[in-house]
Order: sequence, then structure tokens, then C-alpha cells
Amino acid sequence: MDNKELADLIFPDVKDTSYYEEKYMERQLPEGAIVTRFAPSPTGFVHIGGLYQAEIAKKIAKQTNGVFFVRIEDTDQKREIENGAEEILNALKDYDLSPDETEYSETEVIGNYGPYKQSRRKEIYHSYAKYLIENELAYPCFCSTDELNQIRENQEKAKERTGYYGKWAKCRNMPVKMAIEKIKNGENYIIRFKSPGNPDKKIKHRDLIKGNIDMPENDQDIVIVKSDGLPTYHFAHAVDDHLMGTTLVMRGDEWLPSVPLHLQLFYCLGFKAPKYAHIAPMMKQDGDGKRKLSKRKDPEAAVSYYTEQGIPRQAVLEYLLNIANSNFEIWRKQNPEKSIDEFELDIKKMGVSGALFDMVKMLDVSKNIISKYSAERLYNEVYAWASIYDEELKGMLEDKEYGLKVLGIERENVKPRKDIAKWSDVKYIISYLYDDKFDKNGFFEYQKISEESEINKIVKIYFEKYYDENDDKESWFNKIKDLAEELGYSREVKEFKANPDKFLGHVGDISTVIRVKITGRCNTPDLYEILKVLGKERILKRI
Ligand code: GLU
Repeated sequence: MDNKELADLIFPDVKDTSYYEEKYMERQLPEGAIVTRFAPSPTGFVHIGGLYQAEIAKKIAKQTNGVFFVRIEDTDQKREIENGAEEILNALKDYDLSPDETEYSETEVIGNYGPYKQSRRKEIYHSYAKYLIENELAYPCFCSTDELNQIRENQEKAKERTGYYGKWAKCRNMPVKMAIEKIKNGENYIIRFKSPGNPDKKIKHRDLIKGNIDMPENDQDIVIVKSDGLPTYHFAHAVDDHLMGTTLVMRGDEWLPSVPLHLQLFYCLGFKAPKYAHIAPMMKQDGDGKRKLSKRKDPEAAVSYYTEQGIPRQAVLEYLLNIANSNFEIWRKQNPEKSIDEFELDIKKMGVSGALFDMVKMLDVSKNIISKYSAERLYNEVYAWASIYDEELKGMLEDKEYGLKVLGIERENVKPRKDIAKWSDVKYIISYLYDDKFDKNGFFEYQKISEESEINKIVKIYFEKYYDENDDKESWFNKIKDLAEELGYSREVKEFKANPDKFLGHVGDISTVIRVKITGRCNTPDLYEILKVLGKERILKRI
């Protein structure tokens, strides 16, 4: 009776937990369906590791005809920033990872298990906190910061574990009458969980990623409701994931040590605990060692970095699957044309420890993906990116007809070019195809044939006698061979190799001269296509 009085005093106007148990009915889902969620704090920074977690959680839900929802964990109001939640939801949308359920604003809630923003669930937490108090599983704690510091000091002196537990937990065994009096006197308090655990005993946890782990039972009387009335992460996790019907909690492995506490909370609240899969963080090579990819030190930790660089979203998502399942790469080789949606992700194959985040590999994935784009798609993507990030590139692409030709070089064929990894590469890659960017008097690195007189001779004869812009590729190349022969070079490379003394060089040396003269570069895509795109008028201006 005393406990009930205490609970009523602390939470006079809350609904009974049965109200919420009925309101949020068990989800009716097909056999085997998994309900996952992504639960970011709206700090205004979307970490690539967060995107990774969201991608995996959504994929697992989709694969099993389950549900993926997003819950905004904004109970730490000091860390929150304005529009933080909106930015996260927009990033997910950009990456085609929009949840089945979430809330975009108070009036725009999708799903029957909301609110999906913790700050709007206060009365729900209070209802369950009240239930715990009534059942002697929670109590008000009046300790001041000074008192808590004192406890810690004493524990350190006595070489004992720190925290609020057992004999150190001053308010744990306070007579209820006394607590009621203190509250009536207006003393400040918070609500703590009254842990029934014994750390000499072990719990067995079977993690879907980390495997079987034994951990000591929790005995910490952690705070469940703070002085501002908001719940702590631990308490909200239990209440929300229960009411929202989460069946698999996928989250960062920094939460693994909290599992004993969480299982205990689920048990004391009378909830069935979800399964857990603790995801290892992404690592970065740093000197000889590895460290977590850091928000402060690594620009690539921010999802916005990929947008700014113009790395296509598809590439980011595909690379992250490479990290998640090492068999993805083999699957991709066997199924070069399939969408990643068809890849069956296996949680059990996810790494126990953090994978190295490898930018070079991501860019390789990106090159492959971009190589499959049509000229039209590439043009649209690059143009849209340039409209925000590169005025000059946008200007270059204003002539769409020419832009399509430029971006169409060595594309939409069996062996497309793979030199573009991101939109920010494009300006340099195509610049020689634009007259105002091409400096015909610049420094050109000619290769084997580097004497000016020989270069001039080759160029002069080629363009006066052989070049015809209407030639097909075969006649074009035959003419380069004819030119080679005329000037004492071999028609075929192997002819030259067999008899190096007989020739000045081979046909490749000749085409290189033309390539460097016209483009300023010795490495370019197919020269025939380049000459076609430039067209006679532009070419003649260059020589
Ligand atoms: N809000 C928690 C975080 O950002 C989420 C952990 C979880 O997924 O449960 O770390």
C-alpha cells in the first residue's frame, strides 16, 4: 500500500500500463518476419556508421517481410540540435532507406506505434516507471551530486566497483514513508531502478553477431527517470522496443556491456526481450594501429561528405554491404547486373570486430557502378551535382547535346570506361574536350616520339592527307597504319618488336603523338571516339 501511495504521489495523473499494452497491440506479421529499427539521437551529424546500421536493419526487415522503423532518441536535450531529426530522415530518404514507420513531425506520423520521438512519450515512460515503483522495482533517489561524488570516492578508497548499487545505494532501502515526506517537502529526486541482480551470477547472452557471451548480472540501480522527467536511454530502450514490437535490436556494439541491464529491465517490466545483434564500428588505419572512424578526425565519417564529393548513393550502399558480408563480393562477381536488393544479407556472417573502412575500395565499387550508367543518366547526375557544388562544371555542361557526347565516350558498350569514381572527378576528366579549358600551348608530355620536328611532321601529314571525320573506326585506324608505314614506322606493334632495327617505331607511337597533340594527355579513352566528339572544326583549331 505504501508503495502505491508513493507511486501515486510521484506520478498522479498517468494511465495504467494496461492502457498502452492494449493500445499498442502485438504486430500481426507473417511467420519469420523481423521488426528492426534505427534509433539515432538527433545530434545533427549523420555518421556513415549510422547509415550502415540503418541499411542493414532495413535490409533484414525487408528480407523477412518485416518492418523497419526509425525512432528519434532525443532524451538528452543538451546534445540535441534544431532540425537534427529532420536531417537524419532526409539522409535516409536520399539513400532510399526511408523507414516504414516514423514521424516527420507531430502531425506527420506514419505507423501505429508512435509517437516515434522519445520526448513525446513522457507519459508512457511515467506509466511504466510508476508500475516499477508500485512493485518495489524502482524508487526515488534524493542523493545530491556531492553525495554521489562522496560515494564514488569511498568506493575508490575501498577499492570497490563504482556505481550506485547494493550497500552503497543510499536511497535504495529508505523507508517509503520517509521518501513520501521528502517529496512532500519539495526535495529534488530522480527515479532509480531497484536492480534484483547479483554480480556473482552470470547471464548467458546469445548475440546474433557476437555469439555466446557470459556476463555478470547487473546490480546497478541505474537512473530510469531524470530530474527533467525524461527517461534515460536504458529505460526508454526497454519500454519503446517492447511497445513498438521490435524483435531484433541492431545497434552499435558500444551497447553490448549494457545487455545484462537491459535484459533485467525487460524481465522486471514483464516484457519479452528482443534478440540483439551488436554491430562492430568501422575502423580506420592510423599509423600501425586501427581506430574507430571518427567524427572529428575523418571527413569521410560524415554522410554529407559523400554527397559533397559526388559519390553516387548506390556506390556507398553497395560498399557498405561489402563491409557487412564478405561474401558480397563473390555474389557481385556472379551477378554483375543484379540490384543489391537481391543480395541476401546474413547477419551471422557479419564481422565480430570492426572492419577497416577502405576509401580506395569504395571508389572502385563506385567506378564499376558508374561505368554501367548510360550517358543520359550520367549527364543528369553530374549536372544535378554540379548545379550545387561546381558552377564551372555546370557551365561546361549547359550544352547538353555536346555534354552527352563527351560523357558518352566509351560508354554503353561491352567494356565501358571505368575512370570516373565521383562527380567531382568529372571536370578534370573531361576538361580537354572543352576549348576554353584546353591550352594548346601548355606543357604536353609526349612519349617516345618527342622531337618537335617529327611531331609536327606526323600531325601535318595526318591531318592533311589521312584524317576524314566521316571514317568508321576501322578505316580510321587503317589510315593511322598507312601513315605509320609512310613515315617508316611499323603497321603493327608486334612487327616492330620482332624487328626493332628495321623501324623508327610502331603505329602506337604515331597515335600517341596525335593523342597528345589533340588532348594534351597521353592517357585518354579511345582516340577515335575523342576525335569524333571534338569534330573537325575544334580539331583544326588545336593544330
Ligand atoms: N540512441 C542510441 C545511439 O544513438 C541508439 C542505440 C540503439 O540503437 O538502441 O547510440
